[in-house]
Amino acid sequence: MLFWERFGKEFMGSAKDRILSLFFPPRCPVCDGVVLPGVWLCEPCRKEIKAIREPVCKKCGKPLGDDRAEYCFDCQKRKHLYSQGKAVFVYEGALRNSIYRFKYAGKREYASFYARAAAELCGGWLKSKNVEAIVPVPMFPRKQRLRGYNQAEVFAKALGRELQIPVDCRLVRRVRNTVPQKELNEQERVLNVKNAFQSAANIVKYRQIVLVDDIYTTGSTMDALAEVLLTAGVKEVYYICISIGKGYRQ
Ligand SMILES: [Zn+2]
Ligand SMILES: [Zn+2]
Repeated sequence: MLFWERFGKEFMGSAKDRILSLFFPPRCPVCDGVVLPGVWLCEPCRKEIKAIREPVCKKCGKPLGDDRAEYCFDCQKRKHLYSQGKAVFVYEGALRNSIYRFKYAGKREYASFYARAAAELCGGWLKSKNVEAIVPVPMFPRKQRLRGYNQAEVFAKALGRELQIPVDCRLVRRVRNTVPQKELNEQERVLNVKNAFQSAANIVKYRQIVLVDDIYTTGSTMDALAEVLLTAGVKEVYYICISIGKGYRQ
């Protein structure tokens, strides 16, 4: 049973949060409805929300339609530079709206739910890979100033707290302001992120790192970052995304 299915057993946050909750009632991080103190999700979301389960693509972590396939359609036809990745939820329905609010409507507090879910579902895998640092996918500085925060960084910090793994937000930077990947086709996506990232140091001290982001689509961003990091001496680049598309056609 996952943590959000255990009713009322846990409380989101500290004593300070508990006092604050009297004035600002806690909200469901999926639908944004008011929830009772002591629960993570509202009743309908608790029933509705499902984490990704096996079978998943061995490379990118997308859920697969049947367990005979090892790789999704996308990973069968192209080689990725990252070693392996996992995602927590399918990018659809209420969760999709949740991610939208997390990114664009200032709902940074959702990060604690996403991070808790990622830690519960992927924490063991990350530990087995001896990951030394969590690295958020960087945002172009001007864009970050306008939005006020980088959602990948907010998620990275929450995940770092859950797993006790250091977070390094300065390891890579975005040196070109790119068009949002969702507006482009597959080839355009690769070109869009080409030369978009730079490593802050020529030689990176880590051997294994995990990149984190909110959504994984084709992996072009992860591959572009992996290329930069592998060149700088990192041996294995993994990732965790909050959400991902399906690895099969419906
Ligand atoms: Zn809800
Ligand atoms: Zn795949």
